[in-house]
Amino acid sequence: MSRKKYIATPTQTKQILDQYRFTFKKSLGQNFLIDVNILENIIHHAGIDQTSGVIEIGPGIGALTEQLAIHSDHVLAFEIDQRLLPVLKHTLSDYDNVSVVHQDILEADVNQAIKAHFHPEQPVHVVANLPYYITTPILMKLLHEDLPVSTLTVMIQKEVAQRMAASPSQKSYGSLSIAVQYYTEAQVVMTVPKTAFMPQPNVDSSILKLVKRQTPPVDVVDEDLFFTLVRASFAQRRKTLRNNLNAFYKQRLDKQAITDLLEEAGIDGTRRGESLSMEEFAQLTNTFVQATQN
Ligand code: SAM
Repeated sequence: MSRKKYIATPTQTKQILDQYRFTFKKSLGQNFLIDVNILENIIHHAGIDQTSGVIEIGPGIGALTEQLAIHSDHVLAFEIDQRLLPVLKHTLSDYDNVSVVHQDILEADVNQAIKAHFHPEQPVHVVANLPYYITTPILMKLLHEDLPVSTLTVMIQKEVAQRMAASPSQKSYGSLSIAVQYYTEAQVVMTVPKTAFMPQPNVDSSILKLVKRQTPPVDVVDEDLFFTLVRASFAQRRKTLRNNLNAFYKQRLDKQAITDLLEEAGIDGTRRGESLSMEEFAQLTNTFVQATQN
């Protein structure tokens, strides 16, 4: 029996691109996967099965979409580039469980789309080789919107994946680590060489798996203040926590008040933001909230 010719091989991809005279748009982050082994790894780590609903962002010519269609119940894919719609219609014609929506994911009402395409009880997963120019805005949108999604398995730039999954005191740890880990458990599952893509990107890539938490890992009385304080504490990485907070609060709180609040929170102001755990940022928030509300 001859093996089915998957889209994700260099030969098949070239043939499809030639047939449609498709030219890559760098501005849309178009780096297509041409390695079936990598796709199998993504599918494996995504933990999907024939009951799963899958949301894909940026199907391209359908390399990953095809594998998702084979391994799940239904795929809903958002693609911004209109030129790819006829291509996808052709490349995915063997699969009747794929819906392609021509829309910018950042503009999409994903909650509504989930209701329209999946059963209410169906587990839904996000699986995507993301366009690298908007990796963070896409992931933060999907996390902030509190969608009924259980995992997100995404190919992104290696360096960004490291930042999202970093622990306190690691070089990559920063406000992005906390923003992501407040909503999910984050793990870099694999690094992927440039050669797996056509055209090859300038940077290395990683597969990042995010498992949504049922509830946040820390209790904060004011989420906005929590994220504001996290960003303020990392504003200048080489400065101490106290100096970053002094700079952030300027006239609103004097230096003594900040020193007192840090003491009340039980956190040494001479430390750097990068050494604080999420629990400590929560403590900081719950202490500062009284002073900033008055
Ligand atoms: N999934 C394909 C693959 O793995 O071969 C293509 C991945 S490619 C890295 C990113 C895809 O996202 C491209 O098809 C691009 O046109 C699409 N894209 C870029 N910006 C987008 C946006 N804002 N909304 C939806 N799709 C977008």
